[in-house]
Amino acid sequence: MEVEWEKLIPKPRSRFLLVQCNECGHRQIVFDNAKIEVKCQVCNATLALPKGGKARILGRVLETLT
Ligand SMILES: [Zn+2]
Repeated sequence: MEVEWEKLIPKPRSRFLLVQCNECGHRQIVFDNAKIEVKCQVCNATLALPKGGKARILGRVLETLT
């Protein structure tokens, strides 16, 4: 799986994003290429959706942690 990734995207590594929930403001670390839907631990709002191997972030990205 990792090998296929590198063909599509030049960046070899995934990142962690600090995402703030739009609903309640809770801050949570979200994996950049999450394979499953990520929900807010506080209010259960969707923070990220898996899309083509790369997470689509629905919340507000505050910081990128490499
Ligand atoms: Zn929330």
